[in-house]
Amino acid sequence: MNKFKAAFLRFMSGRYGNDSLNNLIFGLSIVIYLVNAFFIRNYFVGLFSQLLLLVVLFRMFSRNWYKRQAENNKYMVLTRPIRLRVSCLVKQFKDKDRRYFLCPNCQQIVRVPKGRGKIEIDCPKCHHSFERKT
Ligand SMILES: [Zn+2]
Repeated sequence: MNKFKAAFLRFMSGRYGNDSLNNLIFGLSIVIYLVNAFFIRNYFVGLFSQLLLLVVLFRMFSRNWYKRQAENNKYMVLTRPIRLRVSCLVKQFKDKDRRYFLCPNCQQIVRVPKGRGKIEIDCPKCHHSFERKT
């Protein structure tokens, strides 16, 4: 078993591996495959889901770190507003005593006590002031 692990590590050395963009493509591929298998049943949609899996494998085994990292960075920048909102909602869901807002200027998550009515919030990062109802 150790021999197999060593061989795998040797094979993967210098290769890109996994990242957030790959996780998204992999998830999309599985969802499209399942939706197609149960509802659409179209050959080309199935083929498309398998092509997405090939893209995941290609990116994982790629030796072009620079390009793969640039792709992932682009993806992370594009999805940043969504990820921040989701993170804000998750914090809000876990913490019932406080309200969480995104600073409209710098997108910093700001935490304030709940039930204080309409208050002016001073962002601790950029000191931009904005009003929100708590
Ligand atoms: Zn700010």
